[in-house]
Amino acid sequence: MDDPSSRRADGPVRGRYAPSPTGPIHLGNARTALAAWLSCRAQGGTFVYRLEDLDAPRVVAGMATAQMDDLRWLGLDWEEGPDLAGPHAPYVQSARHKLYEAALDRLHRAERLFPCRVSRRELRELASAPHGPSGLVPYPASLRPTRLATDWYAQFHDDPDPDAALRFRVGDGDVPFTDHVLGPQHQQVQAAVGDFVLKRRDGVYAYQLAVVVDDLAMGVTEVVRGQDLLSSTARQIQLIEALGGEPPRYAHLPLVLDAEGRKVSKREAEAGLALTHLREAGVQPEQVVGYLAYTLGLLERPAATPPQALIEGFDLGNLPATPWRLPALPLAALQAVPPLR
Ligand code: GLU
Repeated sequence: MDDPSSRRADGPVRGRYAPSPTGPIHLGNARTALAAWLSCRAQGGTFVYRLEDLDAPRVVAGMATAQMDDLRWLGLDWEEGPDLAGPHAPYVQSARHKLYEAALDRLHRAERLFPCRVSRRELRELASAPHGPSGLVPYPASLRPTRLATDWYAQFHDDPDPDAALRFRVGDGDVPFTDHVLGPQHQQVQAAVGDFVLKRRDGVYAYQLAVVVDDLAMGVTEVVRGQDLLSSTARQIQLIEALGGEPPRYAHLPLVLDAEGRKVSKREAEAGLALTHLREAGVQPEQVVGYLAYTLGLLERPAATPPQALIEGFDLGNLPATPWRLPALPLAALQAVPPLR
C-alpha cells in the first residue's frame, strides 16, 4: 500500500470504475462503466476496478463477483482490480483501513478533524436552514467544538467514543470545478453541507473519505460516474486538497429517467434492468453495448457493437448533458437492436 498523497500531477491517464457490491449491474450503471472505460481506453490509459464494500450491512453476498462477471460479459476489462491485483492492491476497500487511518492522522495534524457527538436526528431538529443536497442538513459551524484537549485524538484512537463521529472541518470558500459532461460547477461546501463525517460513530469509514484516499493512492486521474454523486464532488475536492493531493478530472453522467420522465430508483433499475436478466433473456452483450452507445450519442441508431469499436475518437465532452430517458419496454428495445450474426 502506498502514501495517499503520492499522486503524480501529470502522467498517464488512470480511470476507474468503483461499484458497491450492493445490487446487480443494471443498464444505468453499465452505461456509466462503458463511458468510463471508453474514455480511459481512448486516451491509452490504465483502467482500475475497485470494490467499495465498506457499508457491510448493504453488501450482498456473491455480488462483487457477479458484477465483475456482468461487466466482462459486456466486453469491458481492467488492468488492476480485486481479481487481478496490481501495484496498489488490495483493490477492496474493506482491506484498506490502514490507509484511511493514515489519512485521518494527517487531517488531525492539519487541524481539520474534530469529534462530534451531535446525532443526525439532533441536527435535523436544530436545522432552520433548508436542507442541502440529498436532504442533508448542513452542519452549522456554530457546533464546532471551541476547545479540544490537546491529546483528544490519541485518546480517541486508543479508546474510541461510541457516541462520537469524526468530522472534517470544511473550508469556507466556494469550490469551482469543471465537469467534463455537465460543464462548469461550483458549490459552497460550508453552506450546502458543512463539516461532514469521515468516520462514523460505529467506526465505519465514510464513503467520502475512502473514495478520496483511494483515488489519490491509486493515482486516479479521471473519475466518470453518475450524476447522483455530483453533489459530493466539491466536498471531495476539499478533502483531496487537505490531504495534499490534486483533484482528478470529473465527468458525471446525467440522471436516468423512466419513459414517463420520473427518476428511476436504484431498486427499480435493479429489478427491471439488470444485465443478468437481459442475458438470461438471450440478449447479446453487443446489443446492450450498441444500445447504450446509441443513448450516449455514439451511434446514429442502435446496432450491435463490441465496445472496442467505439474507442476511437471517444470524447467525454461530446456526451449528452441531458437526462437519459429509458424506453418503455427496455427488454423489447434491446431485443430489437439488430444483432451480430
Ligand atoms: N461506490 C459508489 C457507488 O457505487 C461510486 C463511487 C464513485 O464512483 O465515486 O455508488
